[in-house]
Amino acid sequence: MEAAVLNAAQTPLEITDLTIDEPVAGEALVRVISAGVCHSDLHFIEGTYPGQYPMVLGHEVAGIVERLGPGVTNVTEGDRVIMGFVQPCGHCEYCDSGHPNLCTTRTSARKRDNPAIKLGDQSVTQMANIGGFAKQSVMPASGLLKIPDSISLDVAALVGCSVMTGYGAVVNTAKVDTGSTVAVVGAGGIGLNIIQAARLAGARQIIAVDMVEHKLNIAKEFGATDTVNASENDPIEAVKELTGGGVDYGFEAIGLKVTSEQTYEMAKNGGMAVIVGMVPPMEKIEVSGMIWRQEKTLKGSFYGSARFHTDMPRILELYQQGKLDIDGLVTKRWAFDEINEAFSALKSGEVARSVLEIGTE
Ligand SMILES: [Zn+2]
Ligand SMILES: [Zn+2]
Repeated sequence: MEAAVLNAAQTPLEITDLTIDEPVAGEALVRVISAGVCHSDLHFIEGTYPGQYPMVLGHEVAGIVERLGPGVTNVTEGDRVIMGFVQPCGHCEYCDSGHPNLCTTRTSARKRDNPAIKLGDQSVTQMANIGGFAKQSVMPASGLLKIPDSISLDVAALVGCSVMTGYGAVVNTAKVDTGSTVAVVGAGGIGLNIIQAARLAGARQIIAVDMVEHKLNIAKEFGATDTVNASENDPIEAVKELTGGGVDYGFEAIGLKVTSEQTYEMAKNGGMAVIVGMVPPMEKIEVSGMIWRQEKTLKGSFYGSARFHTDMPRILELYQQGKLDIDGLVTKRWAFDEINEAFSALKSGEVARSVLEIGTE
């Protein structure tokens, strides 16, 4: 089975032949059709996030179920599916209280001595138990969501990470009010989805902040009412000036300490800053001790606080009604063997979201 293997941080991905196990209880073997190229993958390639190598990245993925292990009932062979990058257990405190994204008991049947994929005798880590930059994945079936035939698998892949994460940060985590003001720091794949969800939620002012001018132009197409080029202006001052003192909701969609702190500063008294980007675990986000006096909220958002089986079908309906643009997010399609070029383009800011065409239906 061909997969793009990351052997060490800061090295190119290598398409290599791996062995893949049959699905065991609770697992499914899925043939990968489409995989989004996400900044979260890039964090592992660049080594800003620690990983256990060799590993196969890819967590924004959709495909077709080929075979099931024993006991799987939520999908069946031949189903076209989103491969969710959290596979909730379904019965812990978090799952039971509407926060399956925070499920801590989610366990893969796979351990280092019992991997789903191997390079020779060596265990290979699957990012998020998926490892979607591969022709196939064996993964926990609780993360799979069947989609209607009318939805293409590249759209489905994007719903698996960037759309769910951005939409959910607005609708579930922050619960943006109609008529509110919003700043979005980082106008990439996640940021554009935050922007269009804020528009859908009825925000009256949506300020996109980025350092790349053409990303700001794309942001306007997705609903940004104002833009700030942070390479030319102090983004905090600019946002305060545009709003007369700060926004109701700030969203950080890059994953840096500095932009997280900037986003917090952009929020007005009583406002909220939501950290959506993957800030590395060794970083500290520092905010003013005056948080008590200003009644500001600093909040994290993981996977859009998703309730997968409720939110993803809703997102697909909103897409089919033309209220969420997912087709317009895909600015480039790549063949599987162009994967390293795809990451170079992501890094340089050339593309909003690009998709690897790994298989065909
Ligand atoms: Zn992602
Ligand atoms: Zn759980």
